[in-house]
Amino acid sequence: MAAEIHSRPQSSRPVLLSKIEGHQDAVTAALLIPKEDGVITASEDRTIRVWLKRDSGQYWPSIYHTMASPCSAMAYHHDSRRIFVGQDNGAVMEFHVSEDFNKMNFIKTYPAHQNRVSAIIFSVAAEWVISTGHDKCVSWMCTRSGNMLGRHFFTSWASCLQYDYDTQYAFVGDYSGQITLLKLEQNSCSVITTLKGHEGSIACLWWDPIQRLLFSGASDNSIIMWDIGGRKGRTLLLQGHHDRVQSLCYLQLTRQLVSCSSDGGIAVWNMDVSREEAPQWLESDSCQKCEQPFFWNIKQMWDTKTLGLRQHHCRKCGQAVCGKCSSKRSSYPVMGFEFQVRVCDSCYDSIKDEDRTSLATFHEGKHNITHMSMDVARGLMVTCGTDRIVKVTCLVVPTSVCVHMAPWSCRGRKTSSPSHFWSAGSPSLFTSSHATCRG
Ligand SMILES: [Zn+2]
Ligand SMILES: [Zn+2]
Repeated sequence: MAAEIHSRPQSSRPVLLSKIEGHQDAVTAALLIPKEDGVITASEDRTIRVWLKRDSGQYWPSIYHTMASPCSAMAYHHDSRRIFVGQDNGAVMEFHVSEDFNKMNFIKTYPAHQNRVSAIIFSVAAEWVISTGHDKCVSWMCTRSGNMLGRHFFTSWASCLQYDYDTQYAFVGDYSGQITLLKLEQNSCSVITTLKGHEGSIACLWWDPIQRLLFSGASDNSIIMWDIGGRKGRTLLLQGHHDRVQSLCYLQLTRQLVSCSSDGGIAVWNMDVSREEAPQWLESDSCQKCEQPFFWNIKQMWDTKTLGLRQHHCRKCGQAVCGKCSSKRSSYPVMGFEFQVRVCDSCYDSIKDEDRTSLATFHEGKHNITHMSMDVARGLMVTCGTDRIVKVTCLVVPTSVCVHMAPWSCRGRKTSSPSHFWSAGSPSLFTSSHATCRG
């Protein structure tokens, strides 16, 4: 009989497996090759490298290719072994890698942008290479003809991109803090909507096509989950990072969100609990608790002969309050506040100790992360950074939680567990209440 694991997914903790060093400048992208002990990296040092794990346990470069311009973005399609590299000069280059990962052949150059390429997605079905760039546009080009099919311009640099392969919707984040949802057609596109919520440039996006959830990370250190599938405009705020959120990955089966920030912070968010939306901030000319006027409310200040106060907002109820009526701080994880935020006195009193239980775990990546990607099937994560280092990390559950984890342990990785393992009801590296453990 299958036994439920009741431990929370918080028990996963990253374990560093390998460090890859050799790049001469910041590494902008790193990807794990599925089912291989291999990593592809692209760097500001103008090189793209394929690293394979040798018997010694070390990763050594098997391909080293120098480009015309610093590499700024990358996409890899494993079935066709095609690599797309975006560069600082605006061009996207396509390569084909040999089966043994020892050779890389140049296929095509796509003059996709006038300036640095920020993100690339390849759709094999549409035969499109879609990209965003610092020339403020998203472009999509035909991978057969190499021709530009369409472009759409924004008011600021386009910084990140996600794409729904079934519906041909593209999500583009930009430096103004806005996310635009576009429907791409063969030679045109239409803007469906714009999502506004961040107070800083959008640094990363993640689209989950199954639950139809969009996650965005920004330079305001926060993450927003946009519930597109729910059709009710529900958004959840996740605040736990202390620096720009650089990369996101949502693990659909365990309903965990992994996020990385540029100070090296790695967070694993439990999205399998009911969370509450943070309230809209209310506007008022006087404190909504003690009714003292705020400093711009000159009439009331004059009438009552009082000094105006600064306006603050309670993060839990959204009311406009003065400093005296909101002197306390509390975390409130159910609303996404993993660290202490300002709350009004009555909200503070309403928060119980158990309400402060964290719904995420926080870990140290110990380098300045610019990009992260995961191989969910193997529970592996690769991060790269401005420190020129690439780290391969395993997210594991402590053996005390489940002793039947052998196929999933880092040592057993050589068997390269296929992704169907997930659906077999087997224990995953990211245990949740969904996961069952076969005793
Ligand atoms: Zn007050
Ligand atoms: Zn309140």
